[in-house]
Amino acid sequence: MKDKAKRPSDRDKLILCPDCDLAIKNVQVEEGKRVLCPRCGRNLISPVSNTVEKTLALSIAGLLLFIPAIFLPLLDFDVIGLESSGSIWDSAIALVNSGFYFSGIAVFVTSIFVPLIKLLILLQVSFQLYISRAGALTIYLFRTYKHLDEWGMLEVYMISVLVTIIKMLHMARIQYDTGFICFILLLIITIFSSLFLDEHFFWKEIYKITANKAKSSPSFSQAKRQES
Ligand SMILES: [Zn+2]
Repeated sequence: MKDKAKRPSDRDKLILCPDCDLAIKNVQVEEGKRVLCPRCGRNLISPVSNTVEKTLALSIAGLLLFIPAIFLPLLDFDVIGLESSGSIWDSAIALVNSGFYFSGIAVFVTSIFVPLIKLLILLQVSFQLYISRAGALTIYLFRTYKHLDEWGMLEVYMISVLVTIIKMLHMARIQYDTGFICFILLLIITIFSSLFLDEHFFWKEIYKITANKAKSSPSFSQAKRQES
């Protein structure tokens, strides 16, 4: 019985590297410092103060900017009197309509679908932690967020926009539209939401809340009574 009681605290003393499975000692680190995996160099702990509140605020701001950033025109080109403009949504549709199905779908997935899902997941998970509620869905969504990390590529789209601007600079008059400003702000918010997300703290809180919930459930109390 004594051994059973010791187990959870022993487990808390170790953390596993998600990349190479190396178990290392869980230590308290102050903000600004971090713990890297000694084998593969992955960042394991990098504390951020008020990470839940910051992530929640950034996900709301990102979602508010999302529709204008995706659907409003980014740039206006004026080439010898011929004007043209387009949004990220227009570019995905134009690629599909021109027969570049793979490129069109890639733009849709990496610049529209995945960034939107990531923001929605961040909102759901940080809100659940903010109100101290988390369950199986929160665990599933936060795992999904990590899997989606490699698929959101707003910055790649930004590079292609910059390349277009540089190439067209001497050939056309370029005007920056509201969509361009919203897109830049959305990109900054996406970068900051990754920087301010303290994954280690999020997982610790999720498991703390779900464990407390399981302990207070009637089936757990019944099992405890039967055990004693
Ligand atoms: Zn590692």
